[in-house]
Amino acid sequence: MATHTTRMLIIGSGPAGLSAAIYGARAGLQPIVVQGLQPGGQLTITTDVENYPGFRDVIQGPWLMQEMEAQAVHVGTRMMWDTIVSVELEGPKFRAIGDGGDVYEGDTLVIATGAQAKWLGVPGEMELSGKGVSACATCDGFFYRGKKVVVIGGGNTAVEEALYLTNHSQDVTLIHRRDSLRAEKILQDRLFAHPNVTVVWNKRVERFVADAESGELRAVVLIDTESGEESEITTDGAFVAIGHAPATSLFEGKLDTDESGYLIVEPGTPKTKVPGVFACGDVMDHTYRQAVTAAGTGCMAALDAERYLAARGFAEAAEAVVAE
Ligand code: FAD
Ligand code: NAP
Repeated sequence: MATHTTRMLIIGSGPAGLSAAIYGARAGLQPIVVQGLQPGGQLTITTDVENYPGFRDVIQGPWLMQEMEAQAVHVGTRMMWDTIVSVELEGPKFRAIGDGGDVYEGDTLVIATGAQAKWLGVPGEMELSGKGVSACATCDGFFYRGKKVVVIGGGNTAVEEALYLTNHSQDVTLIHRRDSLRAEKILQDRLFAHPNVTVVWNKRVERFVADAESGELRAVVLIDTESGEESEITTDGAFVAIGHAPATSLFEGKLDTDESGYLIVEPGTPKTKVPGVFACGDVMDHTYRQAVTAAGTGCMAALDAERYLAARGFAEAAEAVVAE
């Protein structure tokens, strides 16, 4: 068991954590990134990425994250293969404990633990992920231009995803397990008024079915929640939109979260209520949840961490002068 110290400790190695690391390293803070169980974050489980700026052609999610990590290491980041199991935020040094007992100490802490889409947990879902099943219309909707798609869920996310998909598809079906939506009325009104959207009520997804030849999604098998009757909808794409779970359990009772579990930051900044502790990326953003926005807030966290350290350095120097 070892103790690792740094001026900037970063938990999470997705676009937010690695962007914070690149900025922190270039500011001379010798950041440590603790990678967690998903090194590179959510983009490592997708294929085509077409909306990350700087690349004319489609790039692969895992490749983008390898490049980001290589850039972070190149400028001086230390990457750690570990998962944090507890944190102490009392300061002045923030401490994080790895699952093997290693201790990480930072003068600042950047939380970039992300959020995971919730899945239905039905047969075919994981096998067809990236082959027709997705949890992100903004990311993958473009691939279904002129094709038939379904969205599963009844909250704001599902309705927004369905409306977004009408930009690409003439045939969007929203499948919901009850007979009324949870989404806000204004979104419901837009959905019901849209000529390209059909809503299927009282149906739960039983399984996703692959096409025998292509191996891609072919259909969704549904069960009527009232009659128990089975039916099937053929579709090219299925978007599961039943909510996200931000990875914030480490900070329960230590930092504030909103009603959906996202870390609360000072509006327009990555600052949490604890000075020196910053949150960036999907863990504090229930609205945008994109790689580029995660990278942007990672940059903001590093810049604010640098300013926090500079201000603390001035204060300590001034106290030393007074003491003399
Ligand atoms: P994440 O990428 O979620 O990374 C979180 C990191 O925290 C991981 O490295 C994890 O290991 C680590 N971590 C968590 N808990 C701990 C712990 N206890 N200790 C240590 N580390 C921990 N966005 C786009 O812009 N374009 C796309 O095309 C696109 N496609 C997507 C496709 C899929 C299938 C998915 C799921 C998402 C997609 N997104 C896309 C969204 C994008 O991936 C996320 O918005 C982005 O990855 C968020 O970055 P993040 O750094 O905040 O968190
Ligand atoms: P949500 O409000 O929790 O809704 C989840 C939906 O998925 C519900 O309709 C739920 O059905 C359904 N669902 C959950 N588990 C399911 C399962 N296993 N099988 C089938 N359906 C399932 O989640 P969200 O829509 O992601 O929204 C989360 C939060 O973010 C909310 O507070 C929301 O207001 C907010 N948000 C706001 C905006 C906006 O303001 N524009 C946009 C997106 C999200 P039931 O209804 O039957 O429970």
